[in-house]
Amino acid sequence: MAFEKCSSCNAPLSEEGWTKFECPGCGTIIYRCQRCRHQSIPYECKKCGFRGP
Ligand SMILES: [Zn+2]
Ligand SMILES: [Zn+2]
Repeated sequence: MAFEKCSSCNAPLSEEGWTKFECPGCGTIIYRCQRCRHQSIPYECKKCGFRGP
């Protein structure tokens, strides 16, 4: 079984604490790992290019 990957750092989401939400621009599901959440690393939607904190 494959893990989803963080949309910011591309790390596999194998640990607890990650989150997912819909891209404000296009509704694509964005995944973020715990590390990127805590460090507020920006994400970029691969579909529409939306960037957010
Ligand atoms: Zn990450
Ligand atoms: Zn998008």
